[in-house]
Amino acid sequence: MLLVMRLDASRDEIERVKAKVRSLGYLPHEIPGVQRVAIGITGNPREVDPENFLNLAGVVEAIPVSKPYKLVSRDVKPENTVVRIADGTRTPVEIGGKELAIVAGPCSVESRAQILELAQMLKEQGVKLLRGGAFKPRTSPYAFQGLKAEGLEYLREAANRYGLFVVTEAKDTETLPIVAEHADILQVGARNMHNFSLLERIGDHKKPVLLKRGFAATVEELLMAAEYIVSKGNYDVILCERGIRTFETSTRNTLDLNAIPVIKKLSHLPILVDPSHGTGAWELVTPMSLAAIMAGADGLMIEVHQNPELALSDGFQSLKPETFSSLIKRIREVAKLVQRSF
Ligand code: PEP
Ligand code: MN
Repeated sequence: MLLVMRLDASRDEIERVKAKVRSLGYLPHEIPGVQRVAIGITGNPREVDPENFLNLAGVVEAIPVSKPYKLVSRDVKPENTVVRIADGTRTPVEIGGKELAIVAGPCSVESRAQILELAQMLKEQGVKLLRGGAFKPRTSPYAFQGLKAEGLEYLREAANRYGLFVVTEAKDTETLPIVAEHADILQVGARNMHNFSLLERIGDHKKPVLLKRGFAATVEELLMAAEYIVSKGNYDVILCERGIRTFETSTRNTLDLNAIPVIKKLSHLPILVDPSHGTGAWELVTPMSLAAIMAGADGLMIEVHQNPELALSDGFQSLKPETFSSLIKRIREVAKLVQRSF
């Protein structure tokens, strides 16, 4: 249920409505709008009786939300969400605003020297969000599993040295605390999109989250996974389209660019596109990056490696720094066509 407050509702009235929601054992979510505040209610096992709220001062309307996801829905919040990444020291970054967000870095952190060198190269290209896997969810148990805690240290050091923010994957609830200690944005991987215990724990964490679409998940399932996080009170969720599995075998995945305008219609959350996993081929990363921006993506997540032939994971889809630099130039051109910038 969504409670719509009067245009001139006072802070006191809003707080009293939230207290009433809590007194019934539910969770209130204040949703600031351009014009008025709304209060979403979650945690109710069955339908909420609107009569509980309609007589409270400042409430104009109680709207039942029929979609299976509520707080992430555009019905509940018509304005786009802009996720702000800030730590009080470096310049904050906004995801979902006019400026495109480019997350770049290797699939896996492989050594201290590798990530330090790459962070410097990426910084020179204007990148502010450094990615790198430390705890890697690999399909084969024999494949490189990441440098784990050591990898997190190197990633944090590289980001701090060059004034970047860290995006890295939280693979499970056991390692979530250490990952959260080192990350500015917690990544939930495609394989974990349906891991509801992890989503709930991340919902308690209050760190921005990059939630990747599962490779067999519908858009609605992606939005419900986001709802798991948001319903716990962590509102800073960024969605990521990274390709889905189809009958097509000429690419690793089928990058579903339809999902961008579909999600923009259904949800207020920002959405990035990962053309590296979405295609599985470095030659396809540039065209699909540009297409994603034209389709309305709020940014991109791109794998970059100094020496892709020797990469310990996903080298075949990683761009060399020179190719990445040419891509950035083209991104800047294309961004202007859709009133964005980088
Ligand atoms: C990754 O970003 O390196 C990754 C493992 O992605 P996904 O979860 O989309 O496969
Ligand atoms: Mn990868």
